[in-house]
Amino acid sequence: MKPAPIDIEKEVKNHLGYFRKNIEQMKGYCPGEQPQGRDYIKLNTNENPYPPSPKVLQAIQAETGASIRLYPSPMSDPLRAKAAITYGVKQENVLAGNGADDLLSIVVRSFVDKGDFVVLPDPTYTLYDTLVTIQEGEVLNVSLNEDFEIPENEFVKSKARLTFLPNPNAPSGICIPVNKIAGFAKELNGILVVDEAYTDFAKESAIPLIDTYPNIIILRTFSKSFSLAGMRIGLAFADPKLIEGMAKVKDSYNLNRLSIVAGIAALDDMSWMEENVKKIKKTRNDLISSLNRYGFKTYSSQSNFVLARIPNRNCREIYEELKKRGILVRYFDTPRLQDCMRITVGTDHEITRFLEELSHILGKQMAGI
Ligand code: PMP
Repeated sequence: MKPAPIDIEKEVKNHLGYFRKNIEQMKGYCPGEQPQGRDYIKLNTNENPYPPSPKVLQAIQAETGASIRLYPSPMSDPLRAKAAITYGVKQENVLAGNGADDLLSIVVRSFVDKGDFVVLPDPTYTLYDTLVTIQEGEVLNVSLNEDFEIPENEFVKSKARLTFLPNPNAPSGICIPVNKIAGFAKELNGILVVDEAYTDFAKESAIPLIDTYPNIIILRTFSKSFSLAGMRIGLAFADPKLIEGMAKVKDSYNLNRLSIVAGIAALDDMSWMEENVKKIKKTRNDLISSLNRYGFKTYSSQSNFVLARIPNRNCREIYEELKKRGILVRYFDTPRLQDCMRITVGTDHEITRFLEELSHILGKQMAGI
């Protein structure tokens, strides 16, 4: 007799499903929309509106041949070597990842055991929470103040195995100075992860701190400033002992051959990236001024996005209206962010279009940039 089909929903409800209990119960990370089909002005996932360096495209094309028959360098050594020269560190200080998200996952799997405490600013990049939940760690949220600043006295928790500090933070885009980060690293017993996904749009990097503090890990991504979100390339910088340990946790060949050469070529053409960053920073400042004229409160963003707030008004309606008009921004349906939307800095043309539509929606005069 054929066995009765499994009623998955019932099984899951009874915790008799196939998954670990915490996986069954968790929501899972929800990335920003990547719409297929309609051609949106996409200001929702902090991608760079400008193309990557032509040198990157040439390097990818040159690598697209018979060599893909062979595995890549397990540690992405040619990319580590190039990164060491670029950032003035040793190759042993660098670990490459399949995007910064891969490195975040490696970090959490390396340092967090069931029940271990992990400190997160609140609000922040929501993937941190998801990764800690998968690992059955305990999240300790440190609430940011009204202006999304870190309450410094409360941030350092002696029992934290791991503390996440995105700098600039998301979704506010605001930064804290590197000397304050050094102070946190000194005081903390556990690991401090400084997520510098957006630091190329800011003023200073904490990478030099890895020589002084054996408990600090700096993360970088090529997805934003280098216009390579689709290639999935990230770097971690830390004391060689931390890098060696984390290398045991990573997938055996976590970067493919094309990503390795793309990363090297991107670092070989820093001026291309810097030019794009300059344009984005200029547009960012113009966008902030326009949003202020529209009556939004904004924050001093040092990244490629701007958080805009209309106190006591739910921004879902504005987000949905913009979407109908072909413009995607990011709306977070959480109590602290319901009156906000996060706008990725696009080209001047894209931002002008966004402001035009926004002015129609708000029924206000166009502020223009
Ligand atoms: N950290 C932060 C704060 C981010 O916003 C993002 C992008 N969503 C990442 C890390 C991940 O970047 P990547 O594309 O390299 O995985």
